[in-house]
Amino acid sequence: MKKHNFYAGPSILPQYTIDESIAAMKDFAGTGLSILEVSHRSKEFDAVMAETEALFKDLLNVPQEYRVIFVGGGASTQFFTVPYNLLQTRAAYLNTGEWATKAIEEAEIFGEVVVVASSKNKNFTYIPRDFTIPTDVDYFHFTSNNTIYGTEIREDFDSPVTLVSDMSSDILSRPVDVSKYGLIYGGAQKNLGPAGVTFVILKESILGKVERRIPTMVDYRTHIKKNSLFNTPPVAAVYSCLMTLRWLKNLGGVEVMEKINIAKSSLLYETIESSKFFRPTIPNPQDRSRMNVCFVLKDEYKDLEKPFLEFASGRGMVGIKGHRSVGGFRASLYNALPLESVQALVDCMKEFEAAN
Ligand SMILES: *Cc1c(COP(=O)(O)O)cnc(C)c1O
Repeated sequence: MKKHNFYAGPSILPQYTIDESIAAMKDFAGTGLSILEVSHRSKEFDAVMAETEALFKDLLNVPQEYRVIFVGGGASTQFFTVPYNLLQTRAAYLNTGEWATKAIEEAEIFGEVVVVASSKNKNFTYIPRDFTIPTDVDYFHFTSNNTIYGTEIREDFDSPVTLVSDMSSDILSRPVDVSKYGLIYGGAQKNLGPAGVTFVILKESILGKVERRIPTMVDYRTHIKKNSLFNTPPVAAVYSCLMTLRWLKNLGGVEVMEKINIAKSSLLYETIESSKFFRPTIPNPQDRSRMNVCFVLKDEYKDLEKPFLEFASGRGMVGIKGHRSVGGFRASLYNALPLESVQALVDCMKEFEAAN
């Protein structure tokens, strides 16, 4: 049976990425060696690292004076690496979910945190709009896509201070005006590649302004200076990321990707909206994520949760159980997920409705 992979992360990758990664596991760049066993100091891997940064910059239209570095530790390590490097006295954060909350907790270790707005009062089911970014802070941080709750901020804020964003789960899903940001980071395992590598897009001029000493490995300047080869990077994971970037370039880039993502998410949201059994968890259509579509059964049909999950899994749907803090269902529609998989899920929901 064909499987439709709706996992929230690690998650579906393009078939091209899988095929090329398998090929490189056997013979990387004609070296006769596996990508698993080549030196990160080899000229062949040097070329991989250089192309990965260049293609990333090309696809997101990253300005000249920015760098893209690849490090370990996941987005969670960035929660403290960002304040380590940037927070001198105080920083402002927008609290839109669990990941944002975790980022706030880590920043509090380094200085004062001003939470400009929070949607915690309604279990993070909306994006707060009524706030201003203070001018007396070192930076303003927000999470562009709230993977767990299914909300998304697609606005590149005009910020009076350095703008920082966790874009783990919607990077490269749409165009972003990178020039408005000082720093963008994320784990690769949602839209880019396998787990184990983290990207950081940053403008060098935001660095060097804090007084504390920074350990070498968490100092962004280390990785900038050494082109992400200061220590051993996750070689195979970086290679797979490059394959996804090539796939995206070949598809036509982020503008084309965005159109496809709009088509996929609209199809699913419209189906949920018009359904007898289901309802979306995010009331305002403007706040809804294109990447993680969260929905639940209406109160009067709550006992159909388990039967629907079983029905769906019998039709090849994988990973649609909602996160424990939301319940219900979550379908992650990352870049690599084809429209056919969304159609299959929609058909499955309709079939289930007809049968019950
Ligand atoms: C998955 C996710 C994280 C955590 O990433 P790790 O790489 O597991 O540390 C952080 N923020 C967002 C928005 C995520 O989706």
